[in-house]
Amino acid sequence: MTIDQYANRFVCDLVAYEPGKPIDETARELGLEPSQIVKLASNENPLGPSPMAKAAMREALEEAHIYPDGGGYRLRSAIAESFDMEISNVVLGNGSNEIIELLCHTFLNPEAELIAAEHAFVVYKLMATLFGAKYIKVADPGFIHDLDAMADAITDKTRLVFIANPNNPTGTMVGQAAIDRFMARVPEHVIVVFDEAYFEFPDSPPDALKYVREGRNVCVLRTFSKIHGLAALRVGYGLASKNVATLLQKARQPFNVNAIAQVGALAALADAEHIEKTRIVNREGMAYFEKELTARGLHYIPSYANFLLIKTGEGDRVFREMLKQGVIVRAMSSYQLPDWVRISIGTAPQNLRCMEVLDSVLAAESVV
Ligand SMILES: *Cc1c(COP(=O)(O)O)cnc(C)c1O
Repeated sequence: MTIDQYANRFVCDLVAYEPGKPIDETARELGLEPSQIVKLASNENPLGPSPMAKAAMREALEEAHIYPDGGGYRLRSAIAESFDMEISNVVLGNGSNEIIELLCHTFLNPEAELIAAEHAFVVYKLMATLFGAKYIKVADPGFIHDLDAMADAITDKTRLVFIANPNNPTGTMVGQAAIDRFMARVPEHVIVVFDEAYFEFPDSPPDALKYVREGRNVCVLRTFSKIHGLAALRVGYGLASKNVATLLQKARQPFNVNAIAQVGALAALADAEHIEKTRIVNREGMAYFEKELTARGLHYIPSYANFLLIKTGEGDRVFREMLKQGVIVRAMSSYQLPDWVRISIGTAPQNLRCMEVLDSVLAAESVV
C-alpha cells in the first residue's frame, strides 16, 4: 500500500520531465569549478541575458517588496504593439511552458484528444497525460511534422493540435504552404497551437500569426528563454484570438509572472542589438558544427533553430562520457531516439571544446 492509491491516477502515470543537467550539479559531481563546465544542453543563449534586461532588472530589485502587476500591463502592451495586436490578444506565462499548461487546463479532459508529431517537444505529452486526455502521436517522416497526416488525425474529440515550429529536438520547420493547407482543414472545435520558441532564429519563418489576426482558434507561443537569453526568469507569452486569450487568462495564477521577469522581458524586447548578435553567433556556430560533423561523416538533422540533433550512436553513453569531461549535452532516450544526442550551439570556444570532447568519446568507443 502506498500513498499513490489516493493520488490522481494521471499524476501517478506521469514520467517527470528531465531537464538538461545543471552546471552546479555537474561541477559538484566532478569536483570542478562551475566556470570549467560547458553546458550545451538546454538551447540557452550562450551570450547571456540582454544587457538592457540586466540593467532594468537591477533597478527593479528595489521594488521587490511590491506584488507584481498581475495583469502584466506594460509587458503585454509592448508585446501587443510589437505585433500590431491588442493587449487582449496577449497572455503571459511563467515560461511558455506554463501557457501549454493553461491551454490544457482550458481545453482538455479525459474525453479529449491532443495531437502532436511523433518527435515533438515532450512537454505536450506530459501535459496531455496530466489532464487524462488522449495523446495522439502522428508519424513525422524525416523528423518533419506531417501536417496533412495531422489534419487526417483530427476527430470530433480533438481539442488541441500542437505544431512546434521549428521543432525541438529535431530543429525542423514546416513552411507556409503546409501550414495554409492544414489550417484550411481545421474545424472550429480544434485549437491549433504554434509553439514558436525558436521563431527568431530562421531567416524566413512562416507566418502563423495571420491566423490569430483572422480570429481563428489559434495560439502562437513565444518565449524569452531562447533568443533573449532569459531562461532563468521563466517568462513566455501566447498570442491568441481574443476569445481564446480570455479563457487562458482565467486559468492562470494571479501573479504567474514575477515582477523582475516582467521588467527584464520588457527591456529585452527592445534590445534589437542583442537579438542580432545572438543570431550571428548562432549562424556561425551552426556552420562550424555542420562542417565538422560532415567532415567526420556524422549524420545530423539540418536545423532551423539553435541546436542540432546528431546521430552518434549510444546517446546515453556519449552523454555520460562527455559529461565526465565537463561538457553537458542532452541524451535523447526520452524521445525514443537512443542513438542521438542534441547539442545546443554555443560560443566559438564552447563549440570547439564540445567537438574535441565528442571526438575523444567517439574515438574511445571505436577502440572498444
Ligand atoms: C524551450 C522551449 C520552450 C520554452 O520554454 P519556456 O518555458 O518558455 O522556457 C517551449 N517550447 C519548445 C519547443 C522549447 O524548446
